[in-house]
Amino acid sequence: MLPRNDFVSVAPSETSEREWRENVHPDGWRNPAPAARYHLAVIGAGTAGLVAAHAAAALGAKVALIERHLLGGDCLNVGCVPSKAIIRTSRLVAEMRHAKHYGAQIPGDIRVDFSEVMQRMRGIRARISRADSVRRLVSAGVDVFFGEARFTGTQTLTVDGATLRFKKAMVATGSRPDTPSIPGLVEAGYLTNENVFDLAELPRRLLVIGGGPLGCELAQAFSRFGSKTIIAQSWPLFLPLEERDAAQILSDAFARDGIEVRLNTRAVNVRVEGGHKLVDLVSDDYKSTVAVDAILTGTGRVPNVDGLNLEAAGVDYDHTGGIRVDDFLQTTNPRIYAAGDACLEDKFTHTADASARIAVRNALFLGRQRLSALTIPWCTYTDPEIAHVGLYVRQAHEKGISVKTFTIPMHDVDRAIADGEEAGFVKIHVKEGSDRILGATIVARHAGEMINEITLAMVAGIGLRTLADVIHTYPTQGEAIKKAADAYNRTRLTPFRNGLLRKWLRGWV
Ligand SMILES: Cc1cc2nc3c(=O)[nH]c(=O)nc-3n(C[C@H](O)[C@H](O)[C@H](O)COP(=O)(O)OP(=O)(O)OC[C@H]3O[C@@H](n4cnc5c(N)ncnc54)[C@H](O)[C@@H]3O)c2cc1C
Repeated sequence: MLPRNDFVSVAPSETSEREWRENVHPDGWRNPAPAARYHLAVIGAGTAGLVAAHAAAALGAKVALIERHLLGGDCLNVGCVPSKAIIRTSRLVAEMRHAKHYGAQIPGDIRVDFSEVMQRMRGIRARISRADSVRRLVSAGVDVFFGEARFTGTQTLTVDGATLRFKKAMVATGSRPDTPSIPGLVEAGYLTNENVFDLAELPRRLLVIGGGPLGCELAQAFSRFGSKTIIAQSWPLFLPLEERDAAQILSDAFARDGIEVRLNTRAVNVRVEGGHKLVDLVSDDYKSTVAVDAILTGTGRVPNVDGLNLEAAGVDYDHTGGIRVDDFLQTTNPRIYAAGDACLEDKFTHTADASARIAVRNALFLGRQRLSALTIPWCTYTDPEIAHVGLYVRQAHEKGISVKTFTIPMHDVDRAIADGEEAGFVKIHVKEGSDRILGATIVARHAGEMINEITLAMVAGIGLRTLADVIHTYPTQGEAIKKAADAYNRTRLTPFRNGLLRKWLRGWV
């Protein structure tokens, strides 16, 4: 069977490309003869499916893992890994452009060799694919089947003509890009995360439709490589879910990068003329047309639920929310669980991982672990990064919780000043009158790393008062968190306590 990624256009002789393919979908693969019955049949070998298969097999279960395309799913092949690899280069380029600011001289123009950037990305993807490889699965005792899985009953499914019987199953089929219905878009050709990493040439002019995390990350990377980039965002707000001051800082960074952000703007028509893609944009009653070489859509994700014959398995679903699960990740068929993008609103690799662990414990080992017990952070890997965990203030207010917020701007943090990375802040929300952390937003160069400390504190029930006692290495950007905790401690110094302390000290002189 041929893998579905027929869009891969790089030379097959490239070593890293061969290694990647060998790991994620080897040529000439023959599916094994199915076991009489599996403890667990997992559909989809993205993060959720791989984690579930490895975890269950390590605990002694007989596991079948079915993948129709590439092991590793979106994250490894067309998501986190390739995007973070090219973002790294784009950061380097941006830093090189500012070299003078740091007292370093770079003679001549800074030029990006796009094919080298993509080659580096493919090398990284190949290396990371070893962890997701078919070899590793087989040596863990997992039966790997390539092909489209389809339920034929409440305890059976078929793949590539074979019938698999299972005691428990897990649907981990992930999600795919939601394509906006814009007349002419399909005919003109467009990019999504599924083919943008196959580009052989840098588009000179790029229109990104949708200003969510994916659109923002790639718009900034391509702009730094040299694409003249426009983001068209139908909402009147930039990054509508984030706190306004966080979005504003990123908006300013985009302006410095030369990205044009058009808010309240919809793409309504696309046509090709003279080799250019002409896109009609509408903002209220203002109409304009932009000529670009490529269009990247980043307008959301839809769960993969089609073709599974979920009706035969008695599993409820809908096309936007995906597989319907309860708090234990059990579907409407008690034998079948789901995990990852196929059923969750928070579509992240770490959530796919965490939900798969919960589903395995609940499905096979009588666990009663709840999805709602998870504390889920996330990060948009722009420059600066925007990371968040827990409640936003508006959500706390909706729940009737009063909030006190402690904010430390990064320009008050020595390391950020030394590094020339002063854009951003650490903002920690606590329940008014206590030190219990409700949530935090960090906008900083390394926000994705820094948010982990807050997540740990929230999971372990550590309050801001204790964080103030944690020694942070100096100078680090993480000190911003300690400063926020110190700011909290200062609020504990009531006039009464202050008076007592002064009296105490007066007695000493
Ligand atoms: C560009 C981009 C960047 C991203 N960056 C980040 C990031 O930095 N950090 C982060 O946390 N998240 C990131 N994400 C999100 C992350 O990739 C997903 O949340 C994660 O991959 C979800 O894992 P999953 O296992 O649920 O699904 P997937 O990875 O989508 O895997 C599902 C698998 O199921 C297979 N499948 C589907 N239907 C069938 C069937 N009928 N039979 C057999 N197999 C089937 C698919 O082929 C696929 O391999 C990014 C996503 C994108 C698109």
